Amino acid sequence: MTGTAPAPFTADDYRARMARAARTAADAGLAALLVAPGPDMVWLTGYAPPAETERLTLLVLVPGRDPVLVVPALEAPDAAKAVGAPGLALRGWTDGQDPYAATASLLDAGGRFGISDNAWAMHLLALQKELPGTSYASLTDALPMLRAVKDAAELELLAAAGAAADATFEEIRKVPFAGRRESEVAADIAHLLRRFGHSQVDFTIVASGPNGANPHHEVGDRVIERGDMVVLDFGGLKNGYGSDTSRTVHVGEPTDEERRVHDLVRAAQEAGFSAVRPGAACQEVDRAARAVIEDAGYGDYFIHRTGHGIGVTTHEPPYMIEGEEQPLVPGMCFSVEPGVYLPGRFGVRIEDIVTVTEDGGRRLNDTTREMVIVD
Ligand code: ZN
Ligand code: ZN
Ligand code: ZN
Repeated sequence: MTGTAPAPFTADDYRARMARAARTAADAGLAALLVAPGPDMVWLTGYAPPAETERLTLLVLVPGRDPVLVVPALEAPDAAKAVGAPGLALRGWTDGQDPYAATASLLDAGGRFGISDNAWAMHLLALQKELPGTSYASLTDALPMLRAVKDAAELELLAAAGAAADATFEEIRKVPFAGRRESEVAADIAHLLRRFGHSQVDFTIVASGPNGANPHHEVGDRVIERGDMVVLDFGGLKNGYGSDTSRTVHVGEPTDEERRVHDLVRAAQEAGFSAVRPGAACQEVDRAARAVIEDAGYGDYFIHRTGHGIGVTTHEPPYMIEGEEQPLVPGMCFSVEPGVYLPGRFGVRIEDIVTVTEDGGRRLNDTTREMVIVD
């Protein structure tokens, strides 16, 4: 199964990531990082424990000390098999023991700790009780760029996920659209993503006709008709790394206006891509794409940011949005996805994942950005 092949990272890679995270935390004035099961834990350790458990699993990174994974004893054998485990001390606890006291013993009370956004409130409340005078910060707010710059192996995985999404588009453009429900086309997309190696499908947006004007519309029972614009936006994880691409197709011959709006979004997407270079601020990518749409008089109809980062999740920092001054760094990966949404009528969105190179940007999606006519 290509979809479940392990990521090509070594124990040393994970050790280096944990060391870098601890250093970055210290630079940000944090006394420790408390990492719950989820994308940060996967990225730091290679360990993906069940997230739906009330038993505490927590990676404790204290600058200057060895990383410790607090883990329920019954999960410890699995944790010990994680690729990053050689860089970790496992601190097992059994039912009836107090995992919060054990965690607190690893930390100095009074510090400011970064904690995963998805940590359970019950765990945080119990830690607060154990460690009076301690304050907490959102790990994502405090260290937004922790996972943002990808190394060569990560870039290869993202490119492979992008290629699988592109292969999915090349197949889906051949299926019949007219007379079928959005949900049926979405099921085809999910099937294709898995066929091309995805282990997880995160979204399969099929937004036809007026539904395309709502960027939040995922999929419904609407029967697609001839004359519809259809926004397709899909992605998920392949070998642990994300894909996310949008193309807008038309069922049969488009009107002049539909063609004009599609061309406009394509020009905006090109402008956003062209703004990608090391040192440019994230907001410059948004501004470049938005200016094209505003100049054409459609500014009120581009109602979301231009892009988001991608990695071990399909949405993460950095965000291409006005006000984000973070400079682009080679190895960052994010979407460039402007859109125009005409209420009650139709929408157009075109999205590629782009990575920052030494002198510009490189697309990880490369299916045609011209309007594709489907049946
Ligand atoms: Zn039409
Ligand atoms: Zn998307
Ligand atoms: Zn996206």
